[in-house]
Amino acid sequence: MSTGRPRIHLASRNAKKIAEMQRILREHAPDLEVVGLDDVAAYDEPVEDQPTFAGNALLKARAGHAATGLPTLADDSGLCVDALNGMPGVLSARWAGPAKDDAANNALLLAQLADVPEVRRGAHFACAVAYVDGPGEHGQLVVEGRMNGTVIDELRGEGGFGYDVLFVADEHSEPERTSAELDPAEKDRVSHRGRALREIAPLVAARLDGSV
Ligand code: IMP
Repeated sequence: MSTGRPRIHLASRNAKKIAEMQRILREHAPDLEVVGLDDVAAYDEPVEDQPTFAGNALLKARAGHAATGLPTLADDSGLCVDALNGMPGVLSARWAGPAKDDAANNALLLAQLADVPEVRRGAHFACAVAYVDGPGEHGQLVVEGRMNGTVIDELRGEGGFGYDVLFVADEHSEPERTSAELDPAEKDRVSHRGRALREIAPLVAARLDGSV
């Protein structure tokens, strides 16, 4: 049933990601009704086969908009490790295999970096957020955000998801806390997704408002 409030579809099933995106979007559009992939009729989700985060985010947003008719936001993100030439990158979710198992991904990354000294453990998280509300280039927006830091050599923290337990953002190196040891708002302030969403949220709010 329609509530008369502007509605937007977030094409994701990751509850923690959706919560993070909702928190930031609602700062700009407080009466926004946000629906996730599990709240809309099932549709064929695209295979994320693009070489870039932006390409995959657009693929997901286009498919979500085509299937639901709703303005759709989608993100694609990952961890790019300097000593691994930017990998896992777009393969971050499936680094240890198709099961998308965070614990297995973290164990593999730790093993791959076992002999890499602290000074060469630089990395960054990258996130592209795409918004689609119509056909062609006029019906889309894409922005990107980044969080620089290092990969530590042990798992620390209970919060967050994915590689958060292994990653210390530059802004949280003194005293050293992994992204999994931050409260959600602290992470949003410096995160790749937070930065990308804060850039796109006012643009999306203006489009939903009909003022653009
Ligand atoms: P996506 O769902 O295809 O964007 O895959 C993102 C993957 O990158 C996740 O499964 C995580 O492994 C990793 N990732 C992306 N953003 C974060 C983050 O904020 N913290 C930890 N891991 C992340």
